[in-house]
Amino acid sequence: MKIDYRREGELVLKNQIDIQLSTNRKEKPSFSNLKFGKTYTDHMFIMDYSREKGWYDPRIVPYQPITLDPAATIFHYGQTIFEGLKAYLSENEEVFLFRPDENIKRLNRSSVRMCIPEVDEELALEALKKLVAIDRDWVPNMEGMSLYIRPFIISTEPNLDVTPSQNYRFMIIMSPVGSFYKEGMDPVKIAVESDYVRAVRGGTGNAKTAGNYAGAMLVQEKASASGYSQVLWLDGNEKKYIEEVGSMNVFFKINGEVVTPELSGSILEGITRKSVIELLKYWGVPVSERRISIDELHEAYQKGQLEEAFGSGTAAVISPIGELFWNNEKMLINDGKTGDLSLKVYKTLTGIQTDKEEDPFGWRVKVD
Ligand SMILES: *Cc1c(COP(=O)(O)O)cnc(C)c1O
Repeated sequence: MKIDYRREGELVLKNQIDIQLSTNRKEKPSFSNLKFGKTYTDHMFIMDYSREKGWYDPRIVPYQPITLDPAATIFHYGQTIFEGLKAYLSENEEVFLFRPDENIKRLNRSSVRMCIPEVDEELALEALKKLVAIDRDWVPNMEGMSLYIRPFIISTEPNLDVTPSQNYRFMIIMSPVGSFYKEGMDPVKIAVESDYVRAVRGGTGNAKTAGNYAGAMLVQEKASASGYSQVLWLDGNEKKYIEEVGSMNVFFKINGEVVTPELSGSILEGITRKSVIELLKYWGVPVSERRISIDELHEAYQKGQLEEAFGSGTAAVISPIGELFWNNEKMLINDGKTGDLSLKVYKTLTGIQTDKEEDPFGWRVKVD
């Protein structure tokens, strides 16, 4: 689809993505021992924004460094947002994206919160698909592996005044990633964080923006030093209600019912979270989005009703929680083993992503 429209007498082909192919292809890394986020593909997508032109000049070019003025707003005030999704190779060597339209909608929601101009959803989806198609050799053909896609927008205007930038750059870069579960699903140990908070109601917790992650790094480092792989975040207002685990959404199975914290404004609205909820409903498993306090969870644990717990997000899809540390007490969940429902959700979602399972929801989107 191409819409032609005129702006200040200029003919703009809205969906015309200019393509400049690399003449110097990189050597592919050995896909079997990839480190996350270290290797990038041959191409990237770029589109620029100015007040006068709006978003203009969408193009796919060889992957390369960019040049920015040291006074660019991004470096000082962090006006930026990002997304994360994956492309998967099926057994028939077809490439699929998982609900990419949801990522683009969320990209725009994050942008609105950070005062960044929205992008045309159709154009962004087209760019995503074209880029993946061009670099499709980079989608690893090994079990459990995928091509991680990182769309992001940075503010580029040189200006130290604290006002929204007049210029932006939207880019998409891609990196092949290894299997999250090389040695099978091993449930993680989580420490409940009672001092620091990730986000507050009215803050930016529901936007995928850099500051939220920068602010969590110290806390993550402390948890790692004590032998925990992530922290369980409580709400920033009362430090009472459960919000997220690390940078994943969180689910608990309590006495047969699956509970996940309701979207309070400070929780990032995960697409995996949304898919888990829709899948459980489809299966007829009771699931509710509601406030859940750490006290309620502890009480359920004491009664022997805390049956399973897991995080959800694009990177791991499902990450089972085997132990929660809170108030000097270790809560062991399902004997520290992966629960049956957690495993079933994991298998079904990854099955849908890789074309191994029926997709009654129409979540899978084929590339090319
Ligand atoms: C991206 C993210 C998630 C998970 O979102 P998905 O769309 O499922 O990948 C959850 N919490 C935070 C803080 C995130 O940044």
